[in-house]
Amino acid sequence: MTAITLVIGDLTSIVDDSVQFYFQIMTKDTVLEDAVLQFKRIAPEFVCKACGQLFSGRHIGMNCPRCGGKSIIADKGQEFYIESIEVDDGAD
Ligand SMILES: [Zn+2]
Repeated sequence: MTAITLVIGDLTSIVDDSVQFYFQIMTKDTVLEDAVLQFKRIAPEFVCKACGQLFSGRHIGMNCPRCGGKSIIADKGQEFYIESIEVDDGAD
């Protein structure tokens, strides 16, 4: 079995079910037809502009839980990449 692991940040508008749906259409009658997609979701992280506190949250514009200040996006939550591809060589 071939398995592809995708990493998707929760701040992207990418929906697992949609990716799965289009993947099946695009791979029909190809060697990837039976490949399994696995999804890893990454929770967003924000950093407070006032005090520098790092915290996780669900959406842009959340206030800092420590001082109430405005936050900006840190470096987590906007991912979209292939983490790994496992290929079945048929040798089992
Ligand atoms: Zn703060």
